[in-house]
This record gives sequence, structure tokens and C-alpha cells, in this order.
Amino acid sequence: GDRIPRAEGATPAMAQWFAAKAAHPDALVFFRMGDFFELFFCDAEDAAPVLDIAVSHRGEHRGQPVPMAGVPAHALDAYLARLIRAGWRVAICDQMETPEEAKRRKAATIRREVVRVVTPATVTEDGLLDASRPAWLLAVAPGEDGFGAAWLDISTGGFCTATLPRAELGALLARLEPAEAVTAPELSEDTELAQRLPGRIAPRLVPRDAARLVREAYGVATLDGFGRFAPAELDAAALAIGYVRETQAGLLPRLDPPRPQTDAAGVLALDAATRRSLEILRDQRGGTEATLLAAVDRTLTAAGARELAARLAAPLAEAAPIAARHDAVAFLLGDAALRGAIRAALKGAPDMARALARLALDRFAPRDLGALRAGLDLAAHLVATLAAPALPVPKLVAEAAAALRLDPSLSAELGRALSEKLPARLEDGGIIAAGYDGELDALRRLRDGGREAIAALQLDLAQAWGVASLKIRHHQQFGFLAELPAAPAEKLLRDPPKGLSPEHAPIHRQTMANAVRFTCTALAELDRKVAEAGTRAAERERACVKHLRRLLLDAGGPIAEAARAIAELDLHAAAAALAEEGGWCRPEITDRPDFAIAGGRHPVVEAALRKARGPAFVPNDCDLSPGRRLCLLTGPNMAGKSTWLRQNALIVVLAQAGLFVPATSARLGLVDRLFSRVGGGDDIAGGRSTFMVEMAETAAILNGATPRSLVVLDEVGRGTATWDGLAIAWSVLEALHDRIRCRAIFATHFHELTALAGRLPELRLGQMQVAEWRGEVVFRHQVGDGAAQKSWGVHVARLAGVPRAVLARANQVLNALEARARAGGPDALAEELPLFARPAAAAPAPPPSPLHAALAGLDPDALSPREAQEALYRLKALV
Ligand code: ADP
Repeated sequence: GDRIPRAEGATPAMAQWFAAKAAHPDALVFFRMGDFFELFFCDAEDAAPVLDIAVSHRGEHRGQPVPMAGVPAHALDAYLARLIRAGWRVAICDQMETPEEAKRRKAATIRREVVRVVTPATVTEDGLLDASRPAWLLAVAPGEDGFGAAWLDISTGGFCTATLPRAELGALLARLEPAEAVTAPELSEDTELAQRLPGRIAPRLVPRDAARLVREAYGVATLDGFGRFAPAELDAAALAIGYVRETQAGLLPRLDPPRPQTDAAGVLALDAATRRSLEILRDQRGGTEATLLAAVDRTLTAAGARELAARLAAPLAEAAPIAARHDAVAFLLGDAALRGAIRAALKGAPDMARALARLALDRFAPRDLGALRAGLDLAAHLVATLAAPALPVPKLVAEAAAALRLDPSLSAELGRALSEKLPARLEDGGIIAAGYDGELDALRRLRDGGREAIAALQLDLAQAWGVASLKIRHHQQFGFLAELPAAPAEKLLRDPPKGLSPEHAPIHRQTMANAVRFTCTALAELDRKVAEAGTRAAERERACVKHLRRLLLDAGGPIAEAARAIAELDLHAAAAALAEEGGWCRPEITDRPDFAIAGGRHPVVEAALRKARGPAFVPNDCDLSPGRRLCLLTGPNMAGKSTWLRQNALIVVLAQAGLFVPATSARLGLVDRLFSRVGGGDDIAGGRSTFMVEMAETAAILNGATPRSLVVLDEVGRGTATWDGLAIAWSVLEALHDRIRCRAIFATHFHELTALAGRLPELRLGQMQVAEWRGEVVFRHQVGDGAAQKSWGVHVARLAGVPRAVLARANQVLNALEARARAGGPDALAEELPLFARPAAAAPAPPPSPLHAALAGLDPDALSPREAQEALYRLKALV
């Protein structure tokens, strides 16, 4: 853009910068200069505030000083982490030769190249990755009527595709929370898409022959073996693969074959608002503490934690695979000894998938080899652990055990090849153990033998030069030198001993403050030998490491399978541990519209109460079985309505994700879509009013729910004037009952709605029970039948510290209003409304009571407050 000046007239080094920037215009260029990475022009200005570093100026370009900011190369990762978290991409332009090599080539400057582009979804360093979450790269391409989408996680190799109608993209984004997105250029302009995607979208052209590109990436002649893909899905897959290549300087990480998820069938649909409301992976403030995931995560491995998050984000919607997971949990719950053995083995398990990814990208450290060695050993150990179980093994456990059975020669070779203690960096050497490679052993002997010869030479020289304090030391720059204190050195130079053999004759090298350094031909010769053997040993060691890398990558598929199997075992063992710890039960999943939970609890609220040593959580039932599909819940604020609403939705999420549930029993008919609108959903940042948001979300439910869905709604219509709100809530409830015919729980403040109970045969009334004790309200957190009689708002106001006088007046007004409402109120309202084509469930009108008669005679508008109070006393006497 115009923030970058034209390149003409640049110095040779700056010309390299301009070329790198032109090749990666949407990245910050980190330009290596000696011990620093420098940023120039707009890059310096963009990065400085994020990195908290100063912008200075260096030289001139086209008559203007060049803005520059730099970071020390040794601290690169820490700076990268901050930029990546802030959503930036960074192109690393490194020095590809030493200054000496450049001089020898007679080049004007050192050769530099972009060796990789670090972006939020293509990092592999542990320090930049969240161990417990996948880092998805999402690619989107336009399709016939919607989008093709592909998402991949290069740190584990996971790769999926799907075709989506336009309206479903939001739900996919909410489920994946991608770290980064790449789209066809025409879509990057699409404002709706841009708003919903994270960070800056990378616009990239869809390759012309996407299918061929994908086939080539996997070295296969046809993709049929992977499944059936729509053209737009392949476009998206090719976009994703191309983008990864671009960021990894052409190298492609090991990727699992793409898995098409046709129309996301088999997955419980959860839209963005539902996820926010249920706080599955994130709480409403964006944190991760008070979430379902945090409350139920008992996994012991990073891969297991990632898989648990993925399963809670995308629970299943088919009975058989869910039952298979429950079988595995039940099996490990039943066999405590086996579960204990598995969990003991999993503690401290390495992250094999991510180590393998770094190996594939040739960006690994010795500890990654160590992780794979430990992982292969763990796999073998688990195979032995699973060898003789007491009970018949369920399918998923048997499959995991089979995947863990790897070629033992690989593990044996790693065991022989790798040193017990591995160095931090590949350059440090000492990765390969003695005895693995004869040639390496010989070179190391030569190098170490040279060192022994040097130690012997030190004694010889001390004697020949007559200086007992002579020491031979190694210097980075000069190699081995004999060091003498100043006084004997001076004497040696002035008056060398007679009869020295020529190879021991001192040659002066360097004089320092209190020591002088010498060499001699014997020392120089040994120094050369040691250095040469050292270089050759290092070269040979690199070759051995390269061989190991090849071996591991050739077995990459089975190793990745084994890593997944470890995660799978971890998950089921963790679910069993959780079930045992909390007394959770196996839910019965049916294909009918059942819904009967006994003794259900909210896992997050219960855990929070326990942690705070508060009162025990009160379990509650929920029955939405056929004949009573809808529940209309009333009760005061703080009585536990939203907790109950959410817990029933969360039990569905847990059950269909394959976990046990916090209840004494649960029979659940498969849910295809779950909608939850509970708790503050204000979209202040989005600039829409609460009511507008609420109506948009209500519309999404009414348009999306099916008879197999579960809808959990709190306070529909609260964002507008009372009668408006009541009217909307009323009609939504009727639509759920008559038209959609799904299972639903509906909490409301509009007590008027309870009048609908008699007219909607599948509607049941529930109330949060409240007791009054010495004029104080006591919440029992228990769901009972019927409708709440009072709203207790005034009591809650008292709890909150509202002054007494205001409370007293509020009570007067309340009583007056209630009296008036009863006189002309809800029942009458219910009669007035035409209720579609429903045969009027004519409830016989109750005979008028004396109370009714007295009430009917009152004209509240004509009463002064004082008269109203007197009227109330009279009425009360009639009760
Ligand atoms: P409402 O939606 O009716 O205003 P909440 O569901 O937010 O009420 O509950 C208010 C508080 O009551 C919760 O934060 C929790 O501490 C407590 N609570 C709710 N349900 C229960 C329960 N079943 N057992 C124990 N405490 C509960």
C-alpha cells in the first residue's frame, strides 16, 4: 500500500526487505540483521505498540529517514507470541549464510530468505500454542448455494470439510472458534463473513484445479477413498493446503486425509447464541474458568483435553456412536483397577501429535524425538495393560488397543538411538547415544582422543617452557591455546629455553591484561584434528537424526493413529473417573421424543457451590415426555430458574458428547438441535438493542427448531413494554406447542402466561419453590408443580438493600396492581384471544366468590393510595 515507499534506490539489504514485503504484503517482515530481527517502515510502526518497543530511525531511503524497530533474535518466540495473539502474521526473513560466506562469494550483502510465515493457525511451537485446544485454520470457498468449508489443525494433522448453506456458517464458526481464516477474495469482501471470522482474513485465489492439488498433497490418484466431496469443499481444501504451503516455505506438514462431514449430519446443532448461553467452552465474559469444559475435564493428556473440547463443541446426534462411547465409559467405570492402571500410565504422557507435526515441518527440537520415544513406549505399555481385561471389551476400547499396537522395531530403534538425557537444541549435539552408529562412535573417539592428547601436551609444554602454571584452554575463536601469566610469558618471549624441538617452539598469539596466549605447531596440529573430528562427528550425528526423522515420518500415519487412541482412552477413563467422583449416571439414549431426568444437577453451579463450601446443590427432575412436552416455569429472581433451564440443556450436551450425566437417571430421546437463550444476551458491542437481539434469536429458533429439537428459553419478551412482551412470549409458546411440537422449557416473569396451561394440552406448569420464613424469602431451589403465586421481587429488593420506606411503598403499589390485574386480568385475556383452530378447552368458569365480587366492585383508578390500602385490608379479610 502507500504506507510502503517505492523500492527504487534501496541499498542491497533494503532491496531484500522490499522483495520479502512484496511477497508477503499481509505479514510483518522480521528481517534478520546479526543478533536482531528488524522491522522497517509501517511494520515498525504497527508492531512497536504491540511489542512495547521504540521506533528509531536508521539511514535514509529516497531522502527520508527509515523508521525501524528491532527485537533480539534469542527472544524471538516471546515477541512472536505477542504478535500472534494480537492477530498478526509474521514473515521470518532469515540470514541464509555467514558474512564470511557472503564475502567469499563477493556478494554485496548476506543472502536472506523468508523461511516461514508465522500465523495464528500455523504455529507449531509449544510456547505459542494452547495445549488444550486445537488451532483451526478455516478455509471458505463459494459454492452452488452456500459455502464449501475446510478446516485443518497443522499441529495435529486434523482435517475436515463440509458444504454449508449460508445460514449455517455462524454455527460452524461458533463450534470451531478458528484461529485464522483464508477465503476466496470475493468472500473476504463479504462483510457478514468478515464480521464473523476472527482476525484479518487472508484473501487467496482458489486454485484452478483444486481436486488435483488435493490429490497431489496426499500422493493419491483419486480421493474416492477419503469420501465424497462437493466441488466447493475441494476448493476450500485446496485453499487451506495452499495457505499452509505458503506459510511453511513450501513444506507441507503431515495431514490426516480430509474427512467430509456431509451437511454436518450426525452432529448436534448448536448455534452461537446457544453456545454463549450454555458456556460450553467459554463463559459469557470470554474466559474459560466457569465453563462446562472446565467443570468436567478430568483428562490427563493434552490430546485428550483437546478431544474433549472438540466433543463438547460438537456432540453427536446418532444413537449408535453415542452408545459406543457410553459403553467405553461404562466399561472403565466398572473396572476400577484397569482404569487406575490406564490413568497412572497416562500421567505426564507426551503430546505425540504435535511432536510429529514439528518433525514433519523440520522444525523440531531433540525433546520432540524424546516425546515420540516416550509416546511409543507408552503405547506399548497400554497394549500390555489392556491385554487381559476381566470383561468383554467394548468396541472403542478394542479399536484403541489395536491402534496402539505399533511396529515394535521402531520403538526399539529409538530406544537404542537416543541418549538418555537429550540436549535442548539440535546444535548442542549428544542426541545420539553411544553404540548406535559405529561411524559416529569412531569420530567421537577421535575428537575425544584429541582432547586427551592435548591434556598430555599441556604437561609436556609446561616442562619444556619451564612454566608450571601453563594451561591449555579452548577459545571459541582461536581454538586451543596455551595460556601463561604475564611474567613467565615475558621471560619466554625474551629468552626462549634452549634445545626446544621445533614443534614445541612458542608462537605468540595474543597478549591480554594479565595473561599471554601461545600456540606451537604440535598444538596447532592437534587443534586442527580435534576441530575436524568434532565437525565430522556433528555432521554424522545430524545424518543419524535425519534418518530417525525419516523413520518416524514414514510411520507417521500409524503413530498419529496411536496418538489418537491414547487420547480416546484418556477421554473415556476421564469420563469414568468423573462419573464415579460425582455419582453420575449413564443416560439412556432413545430414538423417541423422550425426556425424563431424575435428580439432575448443574455441573458448573454444583462444582462452584462445593468449591465455595456453600449449601449443597438441590437436585431437580425434569419431565418433558410425550404428553407433557412443554414446561412453563415461573418463580422469583434468584430462585434457580436459569440454573435449572441450563442444567437440562447441559445434560443433553454431555450425554450426546458421549459422557455420563449428573443425574440419578436420564432417558433422553436424541436431540437434533439444541437452542438455549438463557441469561443476559445483550449484544452491546454489536450495536443492537437487547430487544432486537432477542427477537432475532427467537426468530432463529422458530425457523430452525424441529420436532426433535430441545428449546430452552428464558424471559422472552423482557426487552419491551409489558403487553408487547407478553403478546410475543404468548405467541412463541403457542408456536412451540402447536407448530414446531418440540420439547421446550420456557421460563417467564409473565404470570399471565400460566393461563395458557389449560389451553395447551402438552403444557405443564412448574415453579421454583420459595418459602417465607419470618417475613424473609427462602429459596428452596426446588422445582414443583403449578405456577408461582407471587413474584417476590420486593423481597429480593430487600435482600439487595433497597431502603425500607421504598419497599413499603412498593408493596402497596404491588398489591393494588395485583388486585387490578385479577379483576380484569389474565384469565379474561386468555378468553379474548382467538387461539387458532384449537377446540377451546373450555374450562368451566368458577362461580364468583365474595372476594371476586368485592374486587369487581373496586375501581383502582378512582382510589387514593390511602383508600387503596383500606380496600386491601377489606379484601384481605375476605381471604
Ligand atoms: P434465577 O434464574 O431464578 O434468577 P439462578 O438460576 O440464577 O436464578 O440461581 C441463583 C443462584 O441460586 C445460583 O447462582 C445458585 O447459587 C443458586 N442455585 C440455583 N439453583 C440451585 C440448586 N438447584 N441448588 C442450590 N443452589 C442453587
